[in-house]
Amino acid sequence: MPLMRIPYTSPLPSPTIIPASASSVEGALVALTNFLTAPTTSAGRTVILSGAGISVASGLADYRGSNGTYTLNKTYRPIYYHEFCANHEARKRYWARSYLGWTNLHRSRPNKAHEAVGRLGELGLLSSVITQNVDSFHPIAHSRLRTLELHGYLRSTVCLSCRTEYNRASFQQDLALLNPAWAVFLAEMLASGALTTENPEERRRKGLKTNPDGDVDVPGVEYGTFRYPACPVCLANPPDGTRVEQDADGAWLPSSTAGILKPAVIMFGESIPNSVKLAVESAVDEAARILVLGSSLATYSAWRLVKRAQEQKKPIGVVNLGGVRGEEQFFANIATSGSGRDGVRCSLPLEEMLPMLVERLSQPITPPSLSSQVFQPAPWR
Ligand SMILES: [Zn+2]
Repeated sequence: MPLMRIPYTSPLPSPTIIPASASSVEGALVALTNFLTAPTTSAGRTVILSGAGISVASGLADYRGSNGTYTLNKTYRPIYYHEFCANHEARKRYWARSYLGWTNLHRSRPNKAHEAVGRLGELGLLSSVITQNVDSFHPIAHSRLRTLELHGYLRSTVCLSCRTEYNRASFQQDLALLNPAWAVFLAEMLASGALTTENPEERRRKGLKTNPDGDVDVPGVEYGTFRYPACPVCLANPPDGTRVEQDADGAWLPSSTAGILKPAVIMFGESIPNSVKLAVESAVDEAARILVLGSSLATYSAWRLVKRAQEQKKPIGVVNLGGVRGEEQFFANIATSGSGRDGVRCSLPLEEMLPMLVERLSQPITPPSLSSQVFQPAPWR
């Protein structure tokens, strides 16, 4: 099973635009139209593979940035799956940070790019969407077009023992009740606007201080005091050979051996479930071509799906600001003078590009008729 690894972080070269005409907006629209509507021998349509770049216009940062480095908190180190499972202290820290960060995500909404993907689906051009994003914007924006969430989703928590899933928004209420000082602090930070910016300087000015290891400094409170609840199912009925205990307020106690809740995202070092792996692979296998939207393919699990499409000799399209891992291989045999049918690489903002593409593709195609042709009198008459 593939493990979720830390993304590839070396700087990527600037993209070569293919076909060359796709460097203008009009040229890119033509190329993408040709790409999506090219006749294929199989009945398959296009599968979308989306990444963080499609959610930037929703106010969520593309952590990679356009210059290929982490742009947010340089000292931030993501939690590993094994740490989360094994370490109560690591979990307290994770949930405290998550408690502060949740409101921003919860208030964010899908943007025009997600809606445009839904419209492309309604036009019959797409077979499914694979997303690396954990923000649930695709399923919210287009419930009828199938979305496969490669790296899980933040909208739920999941019990490590019984696999029951719970709503993350209600979990937020539980965290507030168990951590009243943090709830007060969160309310203050929301009022100051410190949490609506990703800029560390601006955050500091608005009162959100972080210490050198990147943790938020909450006056008078330590991460070590943060509390989180146990899985209600395991608490009521502990799995065989385990015990699940909570304190008087309902916080999970470290004397427990089960009932730990985890966000339903794939953490670094965690395996992508086999069912998900097989589903995304067959989505690529069934499709006639793949279109990458807003991803630098820095994570191996996403890169290998495009590689898989290439091995099946399927056309590849990429719309991403900035370079993409391995793109020179993906487009090695595509002529820069082509029409876009065999492959497209352009670098334009999705939330502007995709609605224009939808508009173009929605217009009925009128075949040229005789009446619309202007007769030219023969020159000898
Ligand atoms: Zn459970």
